[in-house]
Amino acid sequence: MTQFYNHQAYIDLNDSQKEAVKNLDGPLLVLSGAGTGKTRVLTARLANLLYSNKTKPWNILAVTFTNKAAKEMRIRLESLIGPSANSVWLGTFHSIAARILRENAEVVSLNSNYTIITPDDQIRLIKQIMIDQDIDIKKFTPKAMSNLINSWKDKGYKPDDINQSDNDFFANGKAINIYKTYQSRLVTLNSADFGDLLLYNLTIFTENLDILEKYQSKILYFLVDEYQDTNTIQYLWLKLFANKSKNICCVGDDDQSIYGWRGAQVGNILKFEKDYTSAKIIKLEENYRSTGRILEAANSIIANNKERLSKKLKTSSEDGDKIDLISVWDGVEEAKITSLEIENLYSCGFRYDQIAVLVRAGHQTRYFEERFVDIGIPYKVIGAKFYERLEIRDALAYLRVVQQPNDDLALERIINVPKRGLGTNTTSLIHSYAKKNNISFFSASQELLMTDELRPNVKRTLQNLINQFIDWNNHNKEISHTDLALKVLEESGYIDHWQNENSIESEGRLENLKELINAMSGFDNLSGFLEHISLVMDGDNEAEAGEVSLMTLHAAKGLEFGAVFLPGWEEGIFPSQRSIDELGLSGLEEERRLAYVGITRAKKRLFITFAANRQIHGLWQGSIPSRFISELPKKIINENIEGNLGADVSSYNQIDFDLSSNNSSYGPGFLRAKQKGIRGLNVYKNTQFEKSVSSVNLNLSVGQRVFHQKFGMGFIISSDGDKLNINFDKAGEKKVVSSFIKIID
Ligand code: ATP
Ligand code: MG
Repeated sequence: MTQFYNHQAYIDLNDSQKEAVKNLDGPLLVLSGAGTGKTRVLTARLANLLYSNKTKPWNILAVTFTNKAAKEMRIRLESLIGPSANSVWLGTFHSIAARILRENAEVVSLNSNYTIITPDDQIRLIKQIMIDQDIDIKKFTPKAMSNLINSWKDKGYKPDDINQSDNDFFANGKAINIYKTYQSRLVTLNSADFGDLLLYNLTIFTENLDILEKYQSKILYFLVDEYQDTNTIQYLWLKLFANKSKNICCVGDDDQSIYGWRGAQVGNILKFEKDYTSAKIIKLEENYRSTGRILEAANSIIANNKERLSKKLKTSSEDGDKIDLISVWDGVEEAKITSLEIENLYSCGFRYDQIAVLVRAGHQTRYFEERFVDIGIPYKVIGAKFYERLEIRDALAYLRVVQQPNDDLALERIINVPKRGLGTNTTSLIHSYAKKNNISFFSASQELLMTDELRPNVKRTLQNLINQFIDWNNHNKEISHTDLALKVLEESGYIDHWQNENSIESEGRLENLKELINAMSGFDNLSGFLEHISLVMDGDNEAEAGEVSLMTLHAAKGLEFGAVFLPGWEEGIFPSQRSIDELGLSGLEEERRLAYVGITRAKKRLFITFAANRQIHGLWQGSIPSRFISELPKKIINENIEGNLGADVSSYNQIDFDLSSNNSSYGPGFLRAKQKGIRGLNVYKNTQFEKSVSSVNLNLSVGQRVFHQKFGMGFIISSDGDKLNINFDKAGEKKVVSSFIKIID
């Protein structure tokens, strides 16, 4: 191998970046703002470790925040060092911990083929335990209990580590006991939840020094991306693991810490110097991603946070376009205008996959999806965890029972999916029989079939299902696991179930099932696949070339796009009311960091939209523009729009609060809109598009640029009364009725 220092990937770095890539030994922290090349530095450092023959690929551990990021890093690394990139241990905290647990499962009373249960399995199991313990699950919900258990696990607490005071406030002091029972039930089921992965790792490491030493001598170099979002247990795990070599390089940005609600401790990054006494700290100041104006917007918003290290962030890029701040009437209009802007960007040469719509909450994607389907903009919702989808969970439950008939949680999930007449009466009967006799749900079903407890038709159906599982289980060794999966899904009636539904949604579900089977082919057998499914497949659904990405701000961390849309900038939505209610000022500051993350994803164009009205739980409510809007410097906002809104964007909040006090039956947003003449389409008039809501008085002529709900953008080529012949950019030539089109100029 040639020297890495002669490699273009090194030469292209700036001096501070080079420092971080050159200093391979000892603890190093790269602390710097968004887009300064932290991830790039981490990858280059990895390459340098190998180029310089410091160590072997299998002696390196690199931790990324998502599997997608791991995949991207591996691809970049491969382009730098070739196929040996595959031997680097590269993954998320969870996937690495899952592997260590698999290698040492017996130490914590599990088998190496343990199942990783999904969050809804977790809630179901907790619910059963709470019911058994006579806890009022309306007052103390299983979901809240599962949050509590997860937060304990994030802090590294086993049941015995919990303070009585932490326990008192929930379920009349029974929470510790529920936690204990839950853990022992999981062991019986040979299962672990997500939180367990790291918790068991910590137990293994602290209680078995020989095992810890084995791993410590295997991994000599550690690299961690997005260090600001590590939680306590990840921090403890890393500290213990890297304690021997102390060759640890972490990169992060305190301004991008956005997982406080899941236990992330931004303090970890601030403690680095204390934890590793000889630590070197490198700050990068040049942002290579965004235009000057986008960066100014980000800097100006984040400056309002009190809890932060002050960092410099500059760019030598051009100022770029102003930021488009767009007021719309409601969610439907927001989606419409967004889609028009996307079409416009497309016609200006942006590819769809360079465009992203980043929402605060997952449910906000709905209007956009509907609109994109309507007008044919290709898109993909990213980050919705694949395994969290209904059809995937169902399919996996079937496969889990085939693999391990005693997987009660899985069998209970699908015993009546699709509906086959084995409803709650039957399942509770089986359940109590299983509990009384201390046997599994599957065995209880078999035993009950030999009695007259069940009605004849129920008995017949249950017998069929049990026979099917036995048959599938027998086939497990005979046919390939992908064929087996297809067989199970077909014979169980599960595929028919979605085919019969015949909706747009069900088509998507069938596609996902196909994807699941494709994914299986990458594994040697069913058990290998099942062990890793939940970890490996999260966020696997990347946008393909040519698709707009639709995702949450949280899922967008670390990514970049040519153009970014940030919808729903309204008080309550963003910043999220819940975040402020639960965490007060620190919640608000986390929301602001999220705004910073969102803005800094954009390279060239940034659009921020807010609606005057929102439908919340079926009711229309006036909404108030987000306070973050007033934190944007006026001079970088698209003047056309700003002018139309009545000049002073920073006074919005004040006006709205004043209006809300005059006791009107309309919400403040409605009044504000009325007073200022804000209706999305009117506001929009001064921007690039002239649109008309009604096409009755349209002045149509050949050659005009038009927009059609279904076919998108096109030019009129001829007309015959109200029938138009239009050449659509994507759909080709079509005859449409004029009332369905809008003029664009
Ligand atoms: P984030 O905080 O969002 O995770 P980051 O600090 O990890 O950002 P990168 O994603 O590594 O930043 O880099 C941002 C962009 O800048 C990438 O497109 C990267 O290729 C580019 N970049 C980084 N360093 C340089 C450089 N020295 N010269 C040119 N481009 C660079
Ligand atoms: Mg990064």
